[in-house]
Amino acid sequence: MNKRLTQEQASIFATQLRSKAGLNENEPIHIKSLLLKLGILTRYRPLSENAYGLSVQSTDKRYNFMLINSNSTRGRQHFTAAHELYHLYFVLNPKPHICTKGGDKPSAEKDADLFASNLLMPSQGIINEIPAKEIREGISIATILRLEQLFSVSHEAMVYRLKSLSLINESKVESLLAISISEVAKAHGYNLDLYQGGNENTTIGNFGSNARRLYESEKISESHYLELLSLISDDKQEGKNSIGC
Ligand SMILES: [Zn+2]
Repeated sequence: MNKRLTQEQASIFATQLRSKAGLNENEPIHIKSLLLKLGILTRYRPLSENAYGLSVQSTDKRYNFMLINSNSTRGRQHFTAAHELYHLYFVLNPKPHICTKGGDKPSAEKDADLFASNLLMPSQGIINEIPAKEIREGISIATILRLEQLFSVSHEAMVYRLKSLSLINESKVESLLAISISEVAKAHGYNLDLYQGGNENTTIGNFGSNARRLYESEKISESHYLELLSLISDDKQEGKNSIGC
């Protein structure tokens, strides 16, 4: 059984990927720009309720594909993309699988989540944005909202990240998760895009022709290709692709 990814390793991998894309250690990431820069063919479309997304790598490792559930909130979509980047870049011989929500996740999924959290919410980048007074006396909801907007992540992802950085305690986590973040964000004058679904049928890169080209040149196996296309072309097929991890 593989060892679990440690916090330190997740941070190192996040820095490595940032460096590869020309990003510094602390700045917020614009995920679509990153996917484009890394040359990952990405498609956003509605998937089944429990699916977040999936990624596939060509057998010669030269081409990467990603599919993201456009029914997830945009904040969650960003996290899913970062999660998939872990599968593509830091797992030896990644297998195509659908990444799903909830339940008792396999360790590879928890590792991918840990990486995603580090990639999107770098510790120093977060800390730099919190006023000194709030570091001492507790972070305000206004600052938490600002952090979510700045780093383009869901409320839940930011709350857990703040907990992992020991910036909030367990009881604060519970109270923060209990609030209706959309209502609070609206009251603070924020656009609600982050907390809603979107991007349906958005494609980054030329997905169709590239997938076909890979298939025709046998760089990607038929089963992968067909799984990919069935997911893209028919919502009802999702349940049949039981290639989960
Ligand atoms: Zn996964």
